[in-house]
Amino acid sequence: MAKDYYSILGVAKGATQDELKKAYRKLAHAHHPDKTGGDEAKFKEINEAYGILGDPEKRRQYDQFGQAFSGAGGGPSGQGFGGFDFSNFSNQGFGFGGANMEDLFSDIFTGGGRRARSGHGADIQVDISISFEEMVRGTKRTVRLRKQARCNSCSGSGGAPGASQESCPDCHGKGSVMRNVNTILGTFTQSTACGRCHARGKVFSESCRTCRGDGRTEQEISQEVSIPEGIGNGQALSISGEGAAGEYGAPAGDLYVVVHVEPHPELDRRGDDITSEKKLRFDQFVLGDKVPVKTIDGTVNMKVPAGTQPGETFRIRGKGIPRLGRFGRGDHLVRVDIEIPRHPSEEMKRHIEALRGAERG
Ligand SMILES: [Zn+2]
Ligand SMILES: [Zn+2]
Repeated sequence: MAKDYYSILGVAKGATQDELKKAYRKLAHAHHPDKTGGDEAKFKEINEAYGILGDPEKRRQYDQFGQAFSGAGGGPSGQGFGGFDFSNFSNQGFGFGGANMEDLFSDIFTGGGRRARSGHGADIQVDISISFEEMVRGTKRTVRLRKQARCNSCSGSGGAPGASQESCPDCHGKGSVMRNVNTILGTFTQSTACGRCHARGKVFSESCRTCRGDGRTEQEISQEVSIPEGIGNGQALSISGEGAAGEYGAPAGDLYVVVHVEPHPELDRRGDDITSEKKLRFDQFVLGDKVPVKTIDGTVNMKVPAGTQPGETFRIRGKGIPRLGRFGRGDHLVRVDIEIPRHPSEEMKRHIEALRGAERG
């Protein structure tokens, strides 16, 4: 079944984007795993729901096709959403170069032809999720991978300790053999990797017992990954040679770490800038004030000039997101909105009525 993202966020299907955002923030606050009584599973579910519904385009597709995806094996996070798998927020989920990976990274894998090489180790993709704060400051993660790694007994050579080596009798040390291929256009001679020595040109008198000669074994490997500050949601880091080890000494594949940034309950990202909303009272708009604003670096007092209009945006310089690969940071943009008391006191009403009298002259 496709998940009902609306009921996860507790909103009606016709909810406005603003209502969705409010519902999301309230729930994200309540269930944040860092809080006592927080619930990580619930928090992830909320983030997943808002990841789709919070984006008008993805929401439109979900509304239109959401149920249809349930049968396709991919759930609502399938290819129909044209991007990253929002349901895959699991820390350190990993795969061994599954079918999905090439779809996601087709742009990365095109061109090299590298994967076609015989015996070359598979590329591995790992998904990790980091908080908004970690995205701003940069962070490190240790990912644990079960993968084919170089055999420790033979250091990847495939030969038993003390075994002698000789030139491969089949290919005479070249590592490749010529083979005749019959086609309708005639017979061609083609060079292929030698099957006996697996393209190494050498054979051992005795194979390594641990790996049975292919030079690799399944191992659990911890890999530290540095995540640069300012990384984009869904961006992949590639770590060359840290994928699966190649067979018979062939080069290893690469490791791709896809970084998912969890939404922040109050702060949003727009390019290198951070945006947030601040509610002000009527008198603060009219008379001006200094108001505390929560930024990623802590609380900052922001000056609101007299005569400010609801919806105006103020810029706090240098409190945004570090520019990935460049110097400097973006800004923090604060949009001010008015807060009208739903149940004004009698005294407040008297003051406002007096004000109405004054404005009428
Ligand atoms: Zn050979
Ligand atoms: Zn071995």
